[in-house]
This record gives sequence, C-alpha cells and structure tokens, in this order.
Amino acid sequence: MVPDARSTPLIDTSHEALMFPTLTPAQIARIAQSGVVRPIARGDVLIEAGDHVVPFFVITRGEIQIIQPGRGGDVLVAVHGPGKFTGEANLILARRSLMRAVASEPGEVIQLTREQLLDLVQTDGTISEILMRAFIYRRMELAQQGIGDVMLVGSMHCAATLRIKEFLSRNGHPFGYLDLDRDPDAQALLDGLHVTMAEIPVLICRGDVVLRNPSNEAIADCLGFNENIDRAQMRDVVIVGAGPAGLAAAVYAASEGLDALVIEASSPGGQAGSSSRIENYLGFPAGISGQELAGMAFAQAEKFGAKVLIARGATALTCDRKPYRVEIGDGATVPARAVIIATGAQYRKPDIANLSSFEGAGVYYSATFMEAQLCGSEDVIVVGGANSAGQAAVFLSQTASRVLVLVRGDGLADSMSRYLIRRLEEIHNIELRTNAEIVALEGDGHLEHVQYSDKRTGEVSRLDVRHVFLMTGAVPNTAWLSACVTIDAKGFIKTGPDLTRDDLTTARWPLERPPHLLETSLPGVFAVGDVRGGNIKRVASAVGEGSIAISFVHRTLTE
Ligand SMILES: Cc1cc2nc3c(=O)[nH]c(=O)nc-3n(C[C@H](O)[C@H](O)[C@H](O)COP(=O)(O)OP(=O)(O)OC[C@H]3O[C@@H](n4cnc5c(N)ncnc54)[C@H](O)[C@@H]3O)c2cc1C
Repeated sequence: MVPDARSTPLIDTSHEALMFPTLTPAQIARIAQSGVVRPIARGDVLIEAGDHVVPFFVITRGEIQIIQPGRGGDVLVAVHGPGKFTGEANLILARRSLMRAVASEPGEVIQLTREQLLDLVQTDGTISEILMRAFIYRRMELAQQGIGDVMLVGSMHCAATLRIKEFLSRNGHPFGYLDLDRDPDAQALLDGLHVTMAEIPVLICRGDVVLRNPSNEAIADCLGFNENIDRAQMRDVVIVGAGPAGLAAAVYAASEGLDALVIEASSPGGQAGSSSRIENYLGFPAGISGQELAGMAFAQAEKFGAKVLIARGATALTCDRKPYRVEIGDGATVPARAVIIATGAQYRKPDIANLSSFEGAGVYYSATFMEAQLCGSEDVIVVGGANSAGQAAVFLSQTASRVLVLVRGDGLADSMSRYLIRRLEEIHNIELRTNAEIVALEGDGHLEHVQYSDKRTGEVSRLDVRHVFLMTGAVPNTAWLSACVTIDAKGFIKTGPDLTRDDLTTARWPLERPPHLLETSLPGVFAVGDVRGGNIKRVASAVGEGSIAISFVHRTLTE
C-alpha cells in the first residue's frame, strides 16, 4: 500500500519547471540506453529514506510519490509522473537518501545505478544540464523549507549553535531548527531527551541519533558525508582544502581522468563561502553568493568523480619519501602521487584579551544571511579596510540600523576596490571611522559594548554595539606543513620562479629541471590560491591557479 501521506505536495512549485522538468521522448531513449527498464507495482518502495547510494529512476508509465517519513506521519514532498525523474543533490554526492520513493500507480521505470548516471552526465551535456539543475534546485528548496533528516535545537545566543548551522548550511544539508528562546516546545523536547543546558545545542540526526553539542566531524560521520571514501587508496592527486582553488583543481583533475581526493577541514567553499555576494567573478553580472558558487562547484567536482572528505583536516604531510602521505588525524594517512595545497588563509585575530569568549556571541568572521539574522536591526561594527569588509558593510546595511566601518589607516583607497568605496559612500547608514582600533570588548555571555581608540589622539570611545564583524588581514593556513615546503617571511608558500637558487639548495631540490609554475620546493607538490606567496586574494585567481596546477600534475605524474 502507498503510505498515508499528506495529499498536497509540500514543495513550493514556483520553481516547478526548474525542479521538475519533463524529459522528451528522445532524452528518455538516450537515458534508457544506460540503464534497465523495469515494471513497478503500486506500493513498490523504490528508494527507502536513509538508503545509501540509491538508484536513479525515470518514470515512463505510472506514478511515483516522494515521501519524507517522520514520527509525526509521512509527508508527501513531490509526485512524479511520466517523463519525470527521481533524485536530488545527495544522489550525486553519494550520500544517504533523505526521501522514500514509492510507486503510487503501476507502470514502468528506467533504472540506473549511480555509476551509470555519473557516466551518462559526463557524456551527455544536455541531460547533464537538466539533471544537475533539477537536483540543485530541489536541494535548495528542501534547505529553504527545512525538510530533511536533521533537527537542530539550540539558541541564537550560543556560539556552538551558530557553528552547526553554518556547517550544515555550507554543506547544503537541509535541516529544521527549533530555537530554545522562541519555541515553547523546544525545552519540553530537550527535557524528554534528558538533555542538560551544558549539552546544548542538540542535533537529532536521521530521526533517532541524538548528538549533544557535536563536533563538525561527528555530524559529518552521522550524516554519512564521508561514507564510501577509501582513505587508504593511492590517489593520483590529493588536494588539501576545498575553497575555490581546491574545488577548481578537483573539477579539472577529475574531468581529465585523474583519481582525485579533496580533504576539507570544515565545509566546501572556504573564504568565498562566507561572502554574501561576489560581484567580480566572471560570468555572474548580477553577482552570486559565495555559498551558491561553492555549492555548484562542489556538485561539479563530484559529478566528474572527485571525492571530497568533509570535516577532516590535514594535520601533517609526510614528505621524506614518495608516495607522499597526507595525515588526517587518528593515525590515518592518505597516499598521493601528487599533492595540491589549497588551504587558503583565515582572518588574523586582533590582539584583544577576551576575544575568544565572544566568538559567535557578538564577534563574527563572516557576514552571511545567518549572521545578519542574528543582528536584526541593531547597530553593527565592521572592522577592516579590504573588499571583504566593504562587502560585509554593504550587505549588513540592508538590515542593520547603522554600520560603523573601523579602519586602522587613513582611508580605504589603498585597500578596497573603487566600486565598493563608492557604494559605502552612497549608503546613508554606513559610517567610516579611520585611524580606529578596537581596544576592548565587554559583555556578560554576549557582547554588549565595544571600546575603540583614535590612533591619532589616543581618545577612547565606548559604543553600545552587540555585533562586531572582524575582517582584518589574512594569515595562511600552513602550520600543518611543518618544514616540508619553503615558505616566505609571512608564512605563505613559495612556488615556481619565486623559489631562489638558495631556496632550492636548502630544500635539496632533487631534479634537473626547475620547479614548474605553482610547484613548491618539493617535486610534485603544488600550492594554489590564497596560501601561495604573491597570491592576489581573488576567487578568479584561486580558480585559475587550481586549474593550471592540474596541467603540471599531469607532467609530474609521468616523471
Ligand atoms: C568575506 C569575503 C568576501 C570575499 N569577496 C570576494 C569577492 O567578492 N571577489 C573575489 O574575487 N574574492 C573575494 N574574497 C576573496 C576570496 O574568497 C579568496 O581569495 C578565495 O576564497 C581564496 O580561495 P582559496 O581556495 O585559495 O582559499 P580559501 O577560500 O581560504 O579556502 C581554503 C580551504 O582550505 C581549508 N583548510 C584550511 N586548512 C586546512 C587543512 N589543514 N586541511 C584541510 N583543509 C584545510 C579551509 O577550511 C578552506 O575551506 C572574499 C573573501 C572573504 C573572506
């Protein structure tokens, strides 16, 4: 029997054509060549929620219902008739199915395994475009509606809640959220689960596993983000970091037939993922949010067959012999014929005594929709004079009453793009304070007041501001590399022509040829994007370097 689900599909159909396109008979015939045709009877469960690596179905006759099973009853999410197909982003990402697919009318379907589907989308551009767009729009819709297999119970005043929301959002994983401060049922739910205040936030994972203030790694494990990735397998190339540079390297490596594994300490997207709107990336005249760009790049890399380990940081590189090995904690190491270091950079933390106690509780390092929601219409401070600070100020000015931009220098001209400086000047609720430096943060549990000094006069001002966005200078993520590759005075990795004869002698460069462009002082190990000395701190340059490095990886693999 078909389960008793709600009779009206939950999905908002305003994106109907994009989410649920109808395949033409010619397209269906092409898909049929890759799979098998099978009959379906009413009540047949084709996919069960929680199943891992599920098949893909095109309906040729009959009807399939997509259902989200839940303790409070099943919810009908979508109905597919002839010409429609099943699946969303999890199918490409080889993650567990969020939904059950059940035949509601007898008929016939074409069934493809995930591998057959990946082969098809790599060779048929038209079908690839239709399916990828539908999968991504379906995922966006699920995320917007909070439909999924995860419920987070927490408080907007708690840094761990913000971390987990950010982790799930940046991984594009849909989740529901219950706020303890706003939802009277939330506390009752936690009492029922015997959760103490110290264990908040709580994540109810896949319906029944209760995780108390879990690490990102524990969440990734519970949701199966890294299932079926063989960590001991020798890879042609291991890419460390899944920011724009690492994801670009993954797309080019996998699409050119290399066996590529990406290791990402947190979530795909890197710094770009924390940008509210990137307006200078080629091909997006209206701009694109960093998260959207990262989500599409991630799906693209997986589509070509690259594997991405989430929430697993590289802790060391074993570089004294080949194959190189990237350590990922717990004694696990990944062997690699070539390595691309794309670990980027992170904001420098200003030297303020109690800074860490306000991180996530009034102090933030990215300005996305999530942080804007936390600030509401209150005043906010943005610290920094580069483009990222400018973007944050423009974005936050849409919701905050007043945005104070604090810069240490005399102005913005040396550090910010002209188009952003003009925007800042034109927006009435943005105020620029130059020669300004934060000297103290005050508050009990949450930031309440900020003190800043005028560097010229030494005068200290105290502001009743509860939200500060720190976007000041970048430090490269190279600590994990110890002495394997040559770095410059600021800790960025030296590559190609920047490596002097002395550098190469000290590093015992063993080859006749000089290092390739983007190659470090270790043959076959490359550095791309913001982690590289002399980088330009742009999404486009990071993407360019990631893709260029792959052509040199091919050369070193034949050496
Ligand atoms: C708020 C903001 C707005 C921006 N806006 C723009 C813009 O509009 N236009 C533009 O061109 N540029 C912009 N930039 C700059 C741009 O985002 C960066 O230049 C770009 O992201 C650099 O890419 P990357 O891949 O080299 O490094 P990152 O983006 O820094 O990515 C590095 C990745 O490596 C991971 N990582 C770090 N250490 C490890 C480890 N040990 N093991 C595994 N993984 C690790 C990190 O978690 C991260 O995901 C902006 C930056 C910020 C912060």
